[in-house]
Amino acid sequence: MSDWENTVRCISPYVPGEQPKEKDIIKLNTNENPYPPSPKVREAIEAFKYGDLRLYPDPDASELVKGIADLHKSKPSQVFVGVGSDDVLSVAFLTFFYSDRPVLFPDITYSFYDVWAKVYNIKYETVPLNGEMHINADDYLRVNGGIVLANPNAPTGVLESVDDIEKIVSGNPGSVVIVDEAYIDFGGESCLPLVKKYDNLLVVRTFSKSHSMAGIRIGYAIGSEKLIKYMNDVRFSINSYTMNRLTIACGAAELSDPDNFRSNCDKVVRTREYAKNALKRLGFEFPDSKTNFIFAKHETVSADLIFGELKKRKIYVRHWDKPGIENYLRITIGTSTDMRKLYDALSAILGVKEVQL
Ligand code: PMP
Repeated sequence: MSDWENTVRCISPYVPGEQPKEKDIIKLNTNENPYPPSPKVREAIEAFKYGDLRLYPDPDASELVKGIADLHKSKPSQVFVGVGSDDVLSVAFLTFFYSDRPVLFPDITYSFYDVWAKVYNIKYETVPLNGEMHINADDYLRVNGGIVLANPNAPTGVLESVDDIEKIVSGNPGSVVIVDEAYIDFGGESCLPLVKKYDNLLVVRTFSKSHSMAGIRIGYAIGSEKLIKYMNDVRFSINSYTMNRLTIACGAAELSDPDNFRSNCDKVVRTREYAKNALKRLGFEFPDSKTNFIFAKHETVSADLIFGELKKRKIYVRHWDKPGIENYLRITIGTSTDMRKLYDALSAILGVKEVQL
């Protein structure tokens, strides 16, 4: 080992779901939306003047920020935008979690949270979920240096009530509470109305799932003007131009077409509800999902085996070899055709013949 390696910031990084190079894959492993974004996004790309790429973008991404503020009936000064919600969450961790007290989050949740905590040297403690994979709000009413909750949670798909979240936010006036609503548009009740009441609540959203734009990388946060100002101070101390010109134009175009957005979400929700029945009949059990994925465990066959067999048939789902969840598969909701192929493959793997799906 070289001497300089003693002073390297070493970290085991977050591992995102596989992005296979082959074309004919049924990709149900990274919670992407199976439907395209609004045609207005295509128009924005076609209208984009490539010569403008020589110019820096608007550092405030004002056009996109205004669209988001209008959507949520808040002020532009209450909106922070970033390169996907991973970027937004990372800036939020760096900005708000800066104390000797531990940041709290559930033991089963988005596996990037502990990676950011480690890379930024943030002390943290995980709080066990209960047997139904729900949080117990009272567990979060203790000394802490901040709280982060994905609602609905990932990878479980479980939604917590706004009342429970409010209990946590109001019971922790000395900490910032981050609520990561990456999947809220698939049937959950948002905590956004609470932002008016509590200046310590930051709600984080993404264009990657319900807006079908994982490839363009847009995430945002809504919070009190004070929270957003602190985040922007940190962001502008690292990089002034995070949002590029094409992204800003595409994001604003997507927001101008709420009908396409709603119709895509409705389709995903309908397919999810059908999938719940189909998976049950195939012998899977799972906590109820309010997201665009289902976190399912088979009653007799190991997740590892099913994962491998599906992959051989070019169907990708997500599996973590992590204690407590090693027997679960996270299955993203695809088109009904994709899902049909999944049920056929699962029937073959599990040797189920007579199930009417
Ligand atoms: N939060 C949760 C709970 C997620 O599952 C994801 C997707 N990996 C993200 C945030 C980040 O999504 P993105 O950076 O694409 O906005």
